[in-house]
Amino acid sequence: MQPSLPHPAVRLDRVGKRYPGTSADAYAVRGVELDVAAGEFFSLLGPSGCGKTTLLRMIGGFTDPTEGCVLLGGEDVTGLPPEKRDVNTVFQSYALFDHLSLADNVAFGLRRKRVPRPEIRRRVADMLDLVQLGAVADRRPATLSGGQRQRVALARALVNRPQVLLLDEPLAALDLKLRRRMQVELKQIQREVGITFVFVTHDQDEALTMSDRVAVMNEGRVEQCGTPEDVYEHPASSFTASFLGTSNLVPGTYRPGRIVLDAGPELPVCARPGLADGSRVSLSIRPEKIWLSDLEPGMARVEGVVRETVYSGPTTTYLIELAPGVTVSVLEQNTDRSRMEDRWCGGERVEVGWRPEHGLVLD
Ligand code: ADP
Ligand code: MG
Repeated sequence: MQPSLPHPAVRLDRVGKRYPGTSADAYAVRGVELDVAAGEFFSLLGPSGCGKTTLLRMIGGFTDPTEGCVLLGGEDVTGLPPEKRDVNTVFQSYALFDHLSLADNVAFGLRRKRVPRPEIRRRVADMLDLVQLGAVADRRPATLSGGQRQRVALARALVNRPQVLLLDEPLAALDLKLRRRMQVELKQIQREVGITFVFVTHDQDEALTMSDRVAVMNEGRVEQCGTPEDVYEHPASSFTASFLGTSNLVPGTYRPGRIVLDAGPELPVCARPGLADGSRVSLSIRPEKIWLSDLEPGMARVEGVVRETVYSGPTTTYLIELAPGVTVSVLEQNTDRSRMEDRWCGGERVEVGWRPEHGLVLD
């Protein structure tokens, strides 16, 4: 007999949600098919209103799907209430008990489950150490910073040792610097405890930094699912290309192995089998993949005019106009080789180039 494969921690089988009272085709979530592997850090990424929270609530049992099934560890849990599912949720608002100490906040769920006292004490202490709050275990939440409160909320959810932890924009209320630090910490904690995380965010940097895999959502559907590198380097749609970081989308017409830009020139691109000769397409090129100097033979090349130079510390961004209304941004690292006086100024004519494999043809 074949050894059976382990079940995914979460499986969404054609899950859809239409809220009552909304029109027949107004779906908050539609036809979502996803597997999240055990131990994975999985993110749902998309703009506000695309259905991330609704999808997360259906995994947690706070909202029932109107279509499809939710499976946890291979078991169909569709229709089961949250407390019958082996999941915990961390919401954006921490909802801590202000009259309880940190330790008591974290112990709350275990007490309700009547876990023996010595075990509670041990697990709470371990968990507070893990989130680096062991030294302030007796303090009240009101005396903590936002980042510390968020760590208490995390400890309170993790102490229950759920199979899956659901996190709905847990870092959104933190300022940028703290958020960056918490991203790294959260990822470390997840690795240490090995619990499956399903993490909701509208921040593409956050999703790319933290996740093993990302599902990019748009209007209730999953547009693309893959590793951060997959979805960033190989976006399957112009939505994904422009939602993840900056992407230059240049309109043109596809010919096998070439693209004829509306802006004029004809450039080499990788062939897209199955795409009809003459299709209207966008050419997508990441700003950091475009070169402004020392172009190599074989590169796709276009002339343009520098319209804007934006210095931002480690990098400089140039806006280059290829034709009226067609502008690309180009990102250069400010290494010690690129000196101030060598930077391009506004109005100069330049030739930009990129390797053909970095120009993606999108429908
Ligand atoms: P996100 O978390 O990605 O911002 P949501 O899941 O909150 O998106 O919302 C997805 C869509 O469902 C939105 O159009 C929103 O207005 C709608 N929606 C969310 N909750 C409800 C509700 N309780 N009743 C009706 N419509 C809702
Ligand atoms: Mg939301």
